[in-house]
Amino acid sequence: NFTAEVVPQAPEDPLFGLVRAFRADQDPNKVDLADDILHNDPELNHEYAPISGIASFTSKAAELILGGADSPAVKEKRVASFQTISGTGAVHLGALFLAKFYKGNKKVYLSDPTWANHHQIFTNVGLPIASYPYFSKETRGLDFEGMKSALLGAPERSVVLLHACAHNPTGVDPTLEQWKEIAEVIRLKNHFPFFDSAYQGFASGDLLRDNAAVRYFVEQGFEFVVAQSFAKNFGLYGERAGCFHFVTAPAPDAEATVTRVASQLSILQRSEISNPPLYGARIASIVLNDPKLFSEWEENLKTMSGRIISMRKALRSKIEELGTPGTWNHITDQIGMFSFTGLSETQVQKIRSDYHIYMTKNGRISMAGLNTRNVDYVAKAINAIVR
Ligand code: PLP
Repeated sequence: NFTAEVVPQAPEDPLFGLVRAFRADQDPNKVDLADDILHNDPELNHEYAPISGIASFTSKAAELILGGADSPAVKEKRVASFQTISGTGAVHLGALFLAKFYKGNKKVYLSDPTWANHHQIFTNVGLPIASYPYFSKETRGLDFEGMKSALLGAPERSVVLLHACAHNPTGVDPTLEQWKEIAEVIRLKNHFPFFDSAYQGFASGDLLRDNAAVRYFVEQGFEFVVAQSFAKNFGLYGERAGCFHFVTAPAPDAEATVTRVASQLSILQRSEISNPPLYGARIASIVLNDPKLFSEWEENLKTMSGRIISMRKALRSKIEELGTPGTWNHITDQIGMFSFTGLSETQVQKIRSDYHIYMTKNGRISMAGLNTRNVDYVAKAINAIVR
C-alpha cells in the first residue's frame, strides 16, 4: 500500500537537523546560534486534564495576552480558550477550525518570510497560503508599504497571520502606529486576523509592551484568534504548554457564539489529542495565579530579554570595531530572540565549516546562543566571512 510513490520520504526538519549536526561537532569552539532546547525531567501525574485544558491556566493565559482581567474581551466573556500542544498546537487548532468553519476567503496570508512551520501547518489542513511582503532586504527593516498594499490587494475576508511580537525569523516588528494602520486595512477589507504569539515578555521584557498589538485589536472590537506559546517565556519548550484563544467581536449574542465555537473546538481537540498535557500548564498556572511568583517571573523576563538586548549591542559594536563592511544597525534595531544577519547561504555554510558557528541557512541567529565568552569569536568570524 505505502510505496515510495504513495508515501515519499519527507525531508528532515532543517532546524532539528541542524541541532543534530551541532551536537555531533567535536570542535571546542563550536557555537550554537540555533534554538536552545531545554530538557526537564517531569514528575508525571497520570490524571487526564479536561479536553479544553486546565481552566486555571487557560483563563490566566487569556488575561495575559488580551490585556488583563479588565480586558473587555475577558470581562464580556467573548473568549473561548483551549490549552494546546504549545504554540504549534495552537496554530494547528486554529488552522483546523478555520479550514472547517471559516466562510470567508480561506487563503491564509503569511509574512515573507515567516516561521517555516506556518507553511506546513496551514497547508496540511488544506488551507491555501499566500504571502505578503514583510522584510526589506535594503533596510533590513519592515517593508511597511509592501505589506499594506498586499493586504489591500488581497480578496476580502482573507485570513492574515500576524506575529504578535518579536517576528520570527526577522526580529522586525511594526511600531504601534504601524499596527494601527494595519488594523485599519484589515478592517477595511474584512480580513480575519490570526495572531501568533510565541514571545510575549521575551522581546522587550515587558509583557504589556509585547502584547500591545493584540490589545489594540481587542480595543478595536475585532473578531480574531490567537495562538499562544509558553515555550520561550517560561522555558517550557519540551513540556508543550500553549493556548488557543478565539475572541469574538462585541455583539448581543457574543457569549452564545463563544459557546458554539467552543463546542466545535472540543470535538476537534478530542479527535486530535483528547486531552492536553498537564505538567507544563501546571507550572505556568502556578506562576500566573500567584502574585509573588508572577512578579518574580516578570523580573526573570526582564533579565532574559535584557541579556539578549545587551548581546545585540555587544555583537554590533564588536563587528563595527573591526571595520566590517556593510551596515550593522539592524542587529540592535531588531527585537527578540532572533536576528536576520543578512549573511547569504554561502556565507552561512562557510562560517559553519571554517568557524563551527551554526545558524539557519537564511542567516538567522538566535541571540540566546551568544554570551560574553563567544561574542568576540562570532564577531571576528562574521567579519572574516563577509570580506
Ligand atoms: N510561532 C512562532 C512564530 C514561533 O517562532 C514558534 C517557535 O519557534 C512557535 C510558534 C511555536 O513554538 P512551540 O510550539 O514550541 O510553542
